[in-house]
Amino acid sequence: MKTKSKKTRDTAWNTQQHVYIEGIEFRKCSKCKELKTLDKYILIPTKKGSKPDIYCRNCKNKYKRENHGYIRKDPKLVSATRKRQGKEAKERFKTPEMLDFYRKLHAKAVLCITYKGLIIKEYDSAKAAGIDGFKPTGISVACNTGNLYKGFYWKFKKDV
Ligand SMILES: [Zn+2]
Repeated sequence: MKTKSKKTRDTAWNTQQHVYIEGIEFRKCSKCKELKTLDKYILIPTKKGSKPDIYCRNCKNKYKRENHGYIRKDPKLVSATRKRQGKEAKERFKTPEMLDFYRKLHAKAVLCITYKGLIIKEYDSAKAAGIDGFKPTGISVACNTGNLYKGFYWKFKKDV
């Protein structure tokens, strides 16, 4: 349905709104209905190259201004969209692997160990270590790889 309506519009465009006067191409703006030379239109990139917009520059700018003004006037509308987008992004992250990763991060007690093997602190979870400025992901990686993180070795308590 959509492609069909687009095609009829394009045909109408070519026959009625595309005029040559003394060898110069004019186009009729779909908004203000004025015949204008091509430089009065913004070029839109297409697969084949580019084509002039259906609205002239003036009308396009006016349309943009009005639309942006509308969005700015209604911050609720923006925040609702942002919220939805944020939620969608979060949902996309909720793969079984990631959920498992975060569960571990939140539930496992971790030990902070010096390079001499001395346990200096125990946290309820990697996330809880955040209060001392450590990043949960950094701790988790250190636990799983055995590498140093911020000058300390880290282990899950149950692995010790
Ligand atoms: Zn116009």
